[in-house]
Amino acid sequence: MSEVTESRRERARQRRGEFPPAPPPLPAPVLDSHTHLDITVAEAGIPGTPPGGDPLATAIEIATAAGVDRLVQVGVDVGSSRWGVAAAQRHPAILATVALHPNEAPTLAAAGTLDEALRAIEALAGHERVRGVGETGLDTFRTGEEGRAAQEASFRAHIAVAKRYGKALVIHDRDAHARVLEILDEEGAPETVVLHCFSGDEAFAAECVRRGYVLSFAGTVTFTSAGDLRAAARVTPPEQLLVETDAPYLTPSPYRGRPNASYLIPLTVRALAEVTGADLDGLCAAISATGERVFGPWRP
Ligand SMILES: [Zn+2]
Ligand SMILES: [Zn+2]
Repeated sequence: MSEVTESRRERARQRRGEFPPAPPPLPAPVLDSHTHLDITVAEAGIPGTPPGGDPLATAIEIATAAGVDRLVQVGVDVGSSRWGVAAAQRHPAILATVALHPNEAPTLAAAGTLDEALRAIEALAGHERVRGVGETGLDTFRTGEEGRAAQEASFRAHIAVAKRYGKALVIHDRDAHARVLEILDEEGAPETVVLHCFSGDEAFAAECVRRGYVLSFAGTVTFTSAGDLRAAARVTPPEQLLVETDAPYLTPSPYRGRPNASYLIPLTVRALAEVTGADLDGLCAAISATGERVFGPWRP
């Protein structure tokens, strides 16, 4: 690692704070359905990695000790998608998804490289360790009116790729619930649809459940202000419920603002058990089974 990288990491660490302590482990193994290990390694590093060691091996070890023994590494551009495929080939605990993020698509379109990038994503989608196409979708919070057309075109192209290769569609939906459903209807939804970092209310959750979609809850469900999300979790049956970190972002309470990682999933799973009244062992088993159904088996 270069000195420049090291000092950049140090600054990032000071800005974001240290990783929180490990919570008590879960009674049965679950998965993290959505993480960005590449960004975590680049921004915060993985503490405990021996000199010259593989930070991913350390991240997996720490997560497994907390009861999180399988991870889904999510791509946001061509580079991170390729990175995820390589990581999933190297580590049996990792599966990959590949995509151009909805906030990335307008930038690529402006540079005239969106079609080329979409072809690169499609070329990766057939890989055996790639089990999802995403994160794709709509984000009207960070993308303005001028980027809307490129964002929607990219979303439609990803839907087609997911269907062509029979992979789960992993949707990023920020402030665009109704339009996401409209586009899925227009294109025809793939067999498996996951709404990552579910952010709707009870009514939107009920509609997604009715359609057979899978709702993945992040650390946001633990936030004091997230009454709507907890209501959404209550109407989501366990066979349509997943749990994720979106690490290094969205760290659950009481560690908001500090970096997130898969070993913190127990905080979110325990909150979901409390909210839904499910027993913790049963909820872990259900999440695990849903993950294997959505993404396929991690190990042959
Ligand atoms: Zn997202
Ligand atoms: Zn994400």
